[in-house]
Amino acid sequence: MTTILVTGGHGLVGQAIQTISQKFESTDYNFVYISSKDFDLTDLEATRKMFSIYQPEYVIHLAACVGGLYKNMTQKVEMFENNILINYNIVKCSHQYGVRKLVACLSTCIFPDKTTYPIDESMLHLGPPHESNDAYAYAKRMLEVQCRMYREQYGCNFVCVVPTNIYGHHDNFHLEDAHVLPALIHKCFLAKEKNEAFVVRGSGKPLRQFIYSEDLAKLSLCIMFSEEPIDTIILSVPEEDEVSIETVARLIARQFDYEERIVFDSAYSDGQYKKTASNAKLRSILPKFYEFTKIDEGIRETCEWFKASNYDHDIRK
Ligand code: NAP
Ligand code: GDP
Repeated sequence: MTTILVTGGHGLVGQAIQTISQKFESTDYNFVYISSKDFDLTDLEATRKMFSIYQPEYVIHLAACVGGLYKNMTQKVEMFENNILINYNIVKCSHQYGVRKLVACLSTCIFPDKTTYPIDESMLHLGPPHESNDAYAYAKRMLEVQCRMYREQYGCNFVCVVPTNIYGHHDNFHLEDAHVLPALIHKCFLAKEKNEAFVVRGSGKPLRQFIYSEDLAKLSLCIMFSEEPIDTIILSVPEEDEVSIETVARLIARQFDYEERIVFDSAYSDGQYKKTASNAKLRSILPKFYEFTKIDEGIRETCEWFKASNYDHDIRK
């Protein structure tokens, strides 16, 4: 049986891979989902122990110190050091333990701030990242460098995937640290409960491409199982599906029937205005008619999941 080890296996994307992989119902694959409670991947010895126990043929590397704009601005040391350590350990052990293929996760937010659009895979190192998330961005850029070095020197099949903003079931809904979409779902829920204004930080004007976590899970598995040699690849919805933060806030408010109470607080940073990414490379390897989940449908699903969750126990907030 082939072992596929998923780091960050209990996070947003990890849980989506659990959902999608269950549909295989194959006895050929043994998926192992790792939590930080199982192994602290900032620790090289703990990481070695994990590889020696599971001896994985494939690794999908999702574990990271992750957060939205305001976590990136206020916890730069953790964002830099934890991600450098986790990534260094995973790539090194993937080589030492003879992993057949490693799929490691970057983000479109690590691309240069001053750039031309759309962003493509060739542009990752062509200028400094936005200063709001430079710690996370530089650490993630080194993951791309390390994977490339192992490809060049040892012929390792280490691929980096680059998702845009992700959302879905099991997200982190923390009011301060989360990404915009889960933070706003949580805030709208509380605003309605308390009959208060639904406060959206910043101007609402920045643009983002949001990918539904289950779409990303399917694409990541597709890259992992692909026999074609692939290097770094952006996993994004089409450019025309880019939406403003205001649009996202209104779609969320509609799910709570609370559209009349939205206010924008421009005292907060907007972060990067946009980071529009091209999915041309992805399109060239996908079936022609692959359909992404539409943002209104994905937000409806995610709000339903949030409302149905046991608010006190089951969600990260
Ligand atoms: P997530 O929900 O926060 O999951 C990340 C997981 O990493 C967590 O579940 C955590 O495990 C694990 N982790 C953190 N520190 C660890 C440590 N020291 N040792 C072991 N495990 C550790 O994040 P996600 O949104 O699924 O992100 C998955 C990947 O996509 C990440 O590489 C992220 O950088 C990338 N990405 C995310 C977004 C986004 O919008 N969310 C956008 C672009 C790229 P526990 O839960 O068990 O503590
Ligand atoms: P980014 O896409 O990497 O910049 O990170 P986020 O997912 O955190 O999105 C940040 C954008 O959403 C900025 O334009 C913020 O001003 C806006 N935003 C509005 N309200 C919130 C909020 O409550 N939390 C977060 N994280 N962002 C918010």
